[in-house]
Amino acid sequence: MRIAIAGISHETNTFSSVITHRVDFIVRRGAEVLNEPGFPGIIGRLGIEPVPILFASALPSGPVDTATYQAFKAEILEGLAAAGQLDGIFLILHGALYVRDIGDGETDLVRAIRAQVGDEIPIAARLDLHGNMTAEFVDRMNVLVAYRTAPHRDMWETRDRALTLLVEAIRAERRPRTVMVRVPLLLFGEQAITEVEPMASLMAMLPEVDALPGIAAASILVGFAWADVPNAAAYVLVTAEDASHLEAAREQARRLAQAMWDRRDRFGYDVETLPVDEAIEAALAAPESPVFITDSGDNTTAGGAGDVPFVLERLLAHGVPDAVYAAIADAPATRRCYLAGVGASVELAVGGRLDPDHGWPLRITGRVVHLAPEDEGIATVQVNSVQVILTRARRAFTCLDDFRWAGVDPLAHKIVVTKLGYLFPELRDIAPRAIMALSPGYATQVMAELPYCRVPRPIYPLDPDMEWSPA
Ligand SMILES: [Zn+2]
Repeated sequence: MRIAIAGISHETNTFSSVITHRVDFIVRRGAEVLNEPGFPGIIGRLGIEPVPILFASALPSGPVDTATYQAFKAEILEGLAAAGQLDGIFLILHGALYVRDIGDGETDLVRAIRAQVGDEIPIAARLDLHGNMTAEFVDRMNVLVAYRTAPHRDMWETRDRALTLLVEAIRAERRPRTVMVRVPLLLFGEQAITEVEPMASLMAMLPEVDALPGIAAASILVGFAWADVPNAAAYVLVTAEDASHLEAAREQARRLAQAMWDRRDRFGYDVETLPVDEAIEAALAAPESPVFITDSGDNTTAGGAGDVPFVLERLLAHGVPDAVYAAIADAPATRRCYLAGVGASVELAVGGRLDPDHGWPLRITGRVVHLAPEDEGIATVQVNSVQVILTRARRAFTCLDDFRWAGVDPLAHKIVVTKLGYLFPELRDIAPRAIMALSPGYATQVMAELPYCRVPRPIYPLDPDMEWSPA
């Protein structure tokens, strides 16, 4: 059995002015596509012949440049054409791809693939749960399976489940179909952590639905609210094993959607959420060490530019005795640190260039204390009592290894600021205490600050009194 494997994965924050170009993508081609934990293993267990084409992914950021997307799409289409006889197509997608002059990227991609390969060949995809669906996309796909955890702990497992369902359907000569219910909710990922309520009990309903006769998979998507698009919302997807079970799938999708809607006023934060100055004061007063403060408005994993120096400015103004700041993306400042060398004093103006809407360059004077190998482009500068990490490219500090590149042991410091919203699994599991600072940026947690124009109204919570039912 021959299965083509391809994908374009991007979480697009449409509020960001940082356009996502070709250089921002990590691209794997051919056999490299399978270079992911467990991928060769599942392919071996399923006994399939993979035809890997291309997988492109980039850190969340602004709309994807049209020519960049078109080039990836063309390569995937050419790869499919060159593949010869295929039994199925497996796509690795995010669900929140937005292309500048096109709009919803996943819809455009699948429309193009269907135009080329026809409607008969089954197509499955693995999705992030932070995606915004369209009816056309869901209709053109056969199997859709989304992550069930946020912070994400089940990326490979979800891929394996989606691929397995595709292969089983082909072997059984079944033709799965997926139904979708849009739930009119705008949620930030931080308000819908799956380990806590109300998501925990919603996610707990999914395995029961999977086990029903004729149902292949059920998914609840939180959606992606940093996108001013007509399809920004939460979604329920249920894949039926074949068309004869579509009605049962629809019934389950409606039931899950109703359960999500009924919990709408319970979505919220499971961490302390404070204005920036109060977050710093609370961290200083805390008995725990370190205290992780997330610079949530400039969260690079939700499309923040990663160079708003506001929280850094406040840390320095508070004269904190010991802190790490990860990080400011600033290529010229990073280059100057490399030119100066470890031990040299530097005067720099950092940040405020990628996101000129929420910041301006901050003048700092300090000493270069660490330089990562040059191709990594990470410089650490000691400014008073704050270790400021500068990076050549936008970067996310999500685990201890990311800090090691900067020569920093975050656990040895009192305050650790990272440009995240929620902490990713490793840090979440080890952080003695975490505070989310409501800082400015393209990934702001203050929904009222976002200039929504294209999101259809009413939608909760922008229209708190609206009524809705999935019927
Ligand atoms: Zn996600």
